[in-house]
Parts: sequence; structure tokens; C-alpha cells
Amino acid sequence: MIFAANLKCNHTRASFKIYAEILNKTIGVKCDDIIVFPPSVAFLEKENNFIQGAQNFYPCVNGAFTGELGKEHLDEFGIKCVLIGHSERRALGDEEFIKAKFDFAKEHGYKIVFCIGENLDTKNSGKTLEFLKKQLEIIDLNYERLIIAYEPIYSIGTGVSAQSTDIAKVLEFLASLTKAPLLYGGSVNENNIKEILSVNHCGGVLIGSAALKVENFIKLIKG
Ligand code: PEP
Repeated sequence: MIFAANLKCNHTRASFKIYAEILNKTIGVKCDDIIVFPPSVAFLEKENNFIQGAQNFYPCVNGAFTGELGKEHLDEFGIKCVLIGHSERRALGDEEFIKAKFDFAKEHGYKIVFCIGENLDTKNSGKTLEFLKKQLEIIDLNYERLIIAYEPIYSIGTGVSAQSTDIAKVLEFLASLTKAPLLYGGSVNENNIKEILSVNHCGGVLIGSAALKVENFIKLIKG
């Protein structure tokens, strides 16, 4: 199972250092199935037992892109994993930009956690699968370092996860399109993680709020 933590705009360099120290000690050995996306100012240079990923980047090595982060900056921290298509970032850009990021990350061999998910209107109009298929049309579903995270927008940060029957339907559909590991994300917590992980085709979880405290994240990993 893959356990990924998206810390979003939380944690400072100092607090993430402590977070990582505790997580490293708990994991004990290098583990590719635990991924943490800290804010970029908190990236750690030292080797970790978990994979350190970037919440965002600009599809360039370097250049005249004010305020952005290029490959050169990720390289400095040994970062080889990126999050693309999170709904909080989709709100700021278009599909073409997401495609440019995917193509760049693929070209440079990054592990990609690609997020997709519908809003409540789409769900209520019965168009979820059609919508998700469209979100996937712009990427290479055979890319060997791809992980797909299904994150219905209506469940992100709300404290209420999607119904496991709905998750099952979506993961079944996604599994018919790709061999990439499939994660679920959206208000995963200690009360629902067991049920979510037992859904057919579920290869892990992407966790936001419930992973902000390292002790909680560890509890979720340990099950
Ligand atoms: C997320 O933002 O990717 C996420 C899953 O957040 P939360 O767990 O807080 O819903």
C-alpha cells in the first residue's frame, strides 16, 4: 500500500525537519511506498526513509519564470517525485498547463502522482466516469512511474470521504484504463482508512489534514 501525505501550505522548515526525523526513525529503512509532499521551502537535503515529493513545479529546468521552481531546484534536494493536477492547483491553471507539467515530468523520469476528481455537480449529474476519462486523456497512462490519485473535490478537506461504493466504482473504471497504482484521497482519517484500503483496486491513500501531525500519519500507516 502507498501512503502519501500532502502537507499543502502547512509546516515550516523547522517543523518539517522534526516531522521527517520522527517519520524516518519510525520507518527505519528506506521505503518507496511512503511519500510526503512538504511545502517547497521546507525541502530537506538529507536522505530520508520516505520519498520527498514536490507539491508543485514549473515545467522548466530554470529560466525567466518569476516565483517558480524548476528542475534544477528540485535536483538540489534530490526530488524525483511530483504531484500534478491537485484540485487546489487545477483551480489556478488550465489543462494545457497540466499536460505540459506531465510531459516535462515524464521526460525527466519523475514519479508522478497525478490527481483527478469530480465536483459534486458532476457526481450528481451521473457524469463522473466520463469526466475522469477526460481528465486522463492528456496523459500517458502507460508511463511506468505513474500513480493516479482519485480525489473527488467534494470530499477534499470536508471531513467527509466519498462512499466506498462510489470509490469502488471509480477505481474499477480506472483499473480498466491503466495498470498504474490507484490511490484514493479526500478526508481519509483513522475512522475510514481501513474501509477505504479494502476497496478493490485501492493501492493506497493520499492524505491531507489527517497527515499534518506526524503521529497521526504514522498511526494511519500502521493501521
Ligand atoms: C488532499 O488535499 O489531497 C487531501 C486528500 O486532503 P484531505 O485529506 O484533507 O481531504
